[in-house]
Amino acid sequence: KKVIFSGIQPTGVMTLGNYLGAIKNWVTLQEEYHCVYSIVNMHAITVRQDPQKLRQNTLEAYALILACGIDPEKSIAFIQSHVKTHAELTWVLNCFTQFGELSRMTQFKDKSARYADNINAGLFDYPVLMAADILLYQADLVPVGIDQKQHLELSRDIAQRFNGVYGNVFTVPDAYIPKAGAKIMSLSEPTKKMSKSDSNPNAFISILDKPEQIIKKFKRAVTDSEMEVAYREGKDGINNLMTIYSVVTGKSFDEIQNEFAGKGYGDFKVAVGEAVAEHLRPVREKFDALIKDKAYLEECYAKGAERALAISQRTLDKVYKKVGFLK
Ligand code: ATP
Ligand code: MG
Repeated sequence: KKVIFSGIQPTGVMTLGNYLGAIKNWVTLQEEYHCVYSIVNMHAITVRQDPQKLRQNTLEAYALILACGIDPEKSIAFIQSHVKTHAELTWVLNCFTQFGELSRMTQFKDKSARYADNINAGLFDYPVLMAADILLYQADLVPVGIDQKQHLELSRDIAQRFNGVYGNVFTVPDAYIPKAGAKIMSLSEPTKKMSKSDSNPNAFISILDKPEQIIKKFKRAVTDSEMEVAYREGKDGINNLMTIYSVVTGKSFDEIQNEFAGKGYGDFKVAVGEAVAEHLRPVREKFDALIKDKAYLEECYAKGAERALAISQRTLDKVYKKVGFLK
């Protein structure tokens, strides 16, 4: 069986973008593969976090992936900081990553512009920690949104470079990017991707938003001054709403265009809002039940960490031996 690894940062409540771009695939892949999923809180502190809030967000993110359908028996689901091998392998991989490569990462450029008062070394090193996450489990496939493609390519380069020096130590991972929904855009600035850490809550749909909130946010979504619901260059806002509507209803762009021919954007926006609210209802209901059961969550993530450590330690031991660390 092939191995899957993926992670999500506890930097806020998961958005519709995270869900359609990544987590939905996590759930499907469980049936066929060995899956390892992590709440990557070590990545989250590359941006300043309030400690109390981070703890809460971490627990909620864990409950949320279970609510989305991750089965903690079938898959390994753990919290990154509980498994020490991630930090340990990162150090070794740092020594196999070039400053120039990291300087070219667009997420670093974007985030260092957004958080200009805290351009820390961790933010720069983020992709190396991500490479360690993936390579520790010898993952074959990494389900991510398109925004993580460049990081994934760097992980491959690091793995190939290391293998080139020491023989086949790491599996070289492939990205697994959904055809539709790989990049959901912000509702208020549809040329930017939707992000859960956006300071404007109207820019994103959180998967725990109430149906009324969801509909309200879609009503406010920025579109254009035309009136036609059609997928076309230059219509970023409408294209985004059509993509979302298409992924949650299974309708094609042509079908959507026909459905709303002669109707205004107002009707379309409400329809998108209602479809999304309905699509997310089961997740929301399951989350509400799970988050009350702290003991169960704790049991799940403790077991997840134990299983993750056992696998990742084998890779780390091999790496330590290869680079010449005395046992
Ligand atoms: P942050 O703003 O804190 O970076 P984020 O919303 O980008 O938060 P991440 O935890 O960085 O979320 O990413 C989790 C997963 O969601 C990744 O696989 C990423 O590719 C995917 N993802 C993030 N944003 C989108 C989006 N707008 N559309 C589709 N997939 C996305
Ligand atoms: Mg991100």
